Amino acid sequence: MTQPRFRYHPDPVATGSAVPTVEACVLCGVARGWRYAGPIYGRQADVLCLYCIASGEAARALTGAVDFPCMFTDATNVPPGVPFAVVEEVTQRTPGFASWQQPSWLYHCGDGAAFLGPAGYEELRAHPDALEMMRDDLHQLGWPADQVGAMLRRMDAAGEPTAYLFRCLHCDVHLASWDAG
Ligand SMILES: [Zn+2]
Ligand SMILES: [Zn+2]
Repeated sequence: MTQPRFRYHPDPVATGSAVPTVEACVLCGVARGWRYAGPIYGRQADVLCLYCIASGEAARALTGAVDFPCMFTDATNVPPGVPFAVVEEVTQRTPGFASWQQPSWLYHCGDGAAFLGPAGYEELRAHPDALEMMRDDLHQLGWPADQVGAMLRRMDAAGEPTAYLFRCLHCDVHLASWDAG
């Protein structure tokens, strides 16, 4: 089954943001074999295909009574200098991902980064730049150095806390955020 291409979320099946289904999309009526499995900040849809997210139809159709677009990722923590069109594509036309709290997308080099999926310590260790970013974040939150290492080693792709791995589309640096329930 082919899938639409997403600049900022290259493989939603691999990240768990799309799961198999035999049911038809509630918007376009086509059974595409996969449905979106991430968060919807708007009206809910049981079976939503990735094509309707890619086209922007889902963001339009699921906008609720309030005049605020439906989004699949919150538009928080967007660094200055990122064009509004990028934020729109990331939040309204890109599959989001499930997390413990409200995840924010990561941005780098003035653009959205590509989401690679949830990650645990083993996956993070393969990307020392991402591990370093998380270490800096924890230091800035005031964590003592000895607890930072222990916290990072607790990261679990399928458990909690979870790290979320991204890659910059321009300089290829790996980035990570994390959260817990
Ligand atoms: Zn659809
Ligand atoms: Zn970059």
